[in-house]
Parts: sequence; structure tokens; C-alpha cells
Amino acid sequence: MTTNILDRALSPADLAASGDFLALTLSHPEHLTPFSYVLTDGTVAEIWDTGVICLSPVQHGNTDIVLSAGVHGNETAPIELCAALCQDLLTGKLQLKQRTLFLFGNPPAINAGKRELQDNLNRLFSGHHSKGDGEPGWERQRAAKLEHYVQRFYQTGGEGRERLLYDLHTAIRGSQFEKFAVYPFLHGKPWNKTQLRFLHACGVETFLLMQTPASTFSYFGAQSCGAHAFTLELGKVRPFGDNDMSRFAACDLMLRALVTDTVPELAEFDESQFNFFVVSRAVNKQTEQFELCFARNIENFSQFALGTVLARDGAIEYRVDEPGEAIIFPNADVAIGQRAMLLVKPVSIAGQLCD
Ligand SMILES: [Zn+2]
Repeated sequence: MTTNILDRALSPADLAASGDFLALTLSHPEHLTPFSYVLTDGTVAEIWDTGVICLSPVQHGNTDIVLSAGVHGNETAPIELCAALCQDLLTGKLQLKQRTLFLFGNPPAINAGKRELQDNLNRLFSGHHSKGDGEPGWERQRAAKLEHYVQRFYQTGGEGRERLLYDLHTAIRGSQFEKFAVYPFLHGKPWNKTQLRFLHACGVETFLLMQTPASTFSYFGAQSCGAHAFTLELGKVRPFGDNDMSRFAACDLMLRALVTDTVPELAEFDESQFNFFVVSRAVNKQTEQFELCFARNIENFSQFALGTVLARDGAIEYRVDEPGEAIIFPNADVAIGQRAMLLVKPVSIAGQLCD
């Protein structure tokens, strides 16, 4: 974990010396005056805001990469992974070959060790930050800024370049599949086979294929920026220092290969190596009597026998009514009207892929 042993606010000079952008960010969690400097290999490092650093190598490939972590402040493993990768680039340990934008989404929440301060940042994109009444809190303001930074990054790269956005998370609960990706709704466009092959090499074999627009960062990246964009759930939430980083080694290795343009030959796509799910039902909480009828610590993607009662909401009962139906993201504590659980079912995507 990054520590500020100096007991003072870190400065641009500290970043140039240590390459520790996370430490600089957490030392200025709400605002950082923009500055830039040039690394010894000529790469330009532009700090646009706290938690926002754009790296542009002198000679670069045809891909513009956004790597984000800490959109939920307590999801520490991806924050550590991105901080170390960024530091290795800034200190010259790794040679950057693709334009890359690193984002630490919610620095005040990271400092507080909390998922969010006021609003769930990952429900505020695609303009949702501007909906609702009252003064916008930190997360609403931050979502608007992050949208702006991502668009600026891709627009500076220009049209015709490949755009990637990987938003790295860990889940509140365990999962039958340790790592999984949420593939945002593509409005009928085919899913990308190369991306599936790359993410499989990252250790992600399970994909939840969304079929409706969303307020997530990855949907914003896909829909508003034309990026191949994914929410990657890489394991379970743990405090800083408690992560077994060996469980993230494959993902770390591949992201390092991606930004240094050294991705090895990927295995051919073989659907039998994957699990694909689609949402069969979204269950919204309708009354204060809403209750889930399984253990609180149930894992994501748990399946139940046909007919099993999963939840009760006043007079309504939710039962498993399709073979293979599984639950994901259950949370009885949401506000009335909000999503309390998704039910998903396995699907085949044969014939619906592009390269
Ligand atoms: Zn998260």
C-alpha cells in the first residue's frame, strides 16, 4: 500500500522522483492542479486531475487504452495493480508503446476505505450524474469530469484507432466464477472475438452479456466512445495489503503486455472454454418487506433447483423458473424501486461474434 511518510502534501517533484501516482492522488484526493513532464524516453506524462494521468509515448501503436480502478473506493486489488503498472511506466522499468489513460475513480472514497461517499459512482455515467435534485455531491461531479477526460483522451488520439476501456473492480461477495466480465449492451452489434480471447488470457472466462443500456462507466465507454469496454470483476473485495496478488497475475501480465505492445499470440476462440450468461430477469425491490430467501453470504452465479423460492416481496414470490437460472448481485438493502437482484441464465453466442 502506498504511504505518505513525508507527512506533507506530495508535489509534482515527488511524482517525478518516485513515479507513485497513486500516492500523489491520495495526497490530493479532491483536486490536483494539472501539470505535465517528459520521461527520459520521451513519453509525455500529463496529469489532468487527481487520479487522472495520460501517458503518450513518442512512437505509439494504434490503440488508445483506458485503465480504471477505484471507481469503488474499497476495491483495493485493482487499485494496487494499476498503481504498480503506472509506476513501472513512469520510472522507465517498462517501456510504454500505446497511449494510455490511467484513472483512479474515487480518491476520497479510497482514502476513506469506502465503496462511495454519497452516490455509487458506477451508476452515474452517460449523463446520469446530471439527473436528480439538489446540489451534486462529489461522485456526481466526478462522473461528469471522468466522462470529459475519457472523451478528450480518445478524441486526441483521433478517429480510426482502436479504443479499449477496462474498468477494474472486485465484487462485494464471492463468486462461483472468481473472475467475470460485464459486457455492456452493444445495441445489436456483434460481440468481439479478439476481446474475448484477450480477456480469457487475463483469466476471465465468464461473461455477463447485458441487453439494456446502463449507467455504468463501461457502458459509457462502449456507447458514447465506441470503445471495446468491459467491467472486470477480478475477485472479492479485501482491504489494502490483504490481497493475494498472485490471483491477479494473469491479468497483470496481460495488461502489461497490452500497454507495451507485446501481447503474445492469443489462443483461438473456443466457446467451450467460456461461460456466457444473459439477464433473464431484474428483480426490483417494491416493498419494505422485501427479503432474500438464501444465505447472506451466497456467491454470485449460485444456481438453485427449478421452483426454489429466491425472494419474497410482500405478496410476490420469485422462484427459479428456468433451468440453469442463477443469481447475481443480490442486495436486499437497496432503496425501494432499486435493483435487488439479477437472475441470469446461460446462453450460447455461436454465430454472433466479429473479429
Ligand atoms: Zn466495484
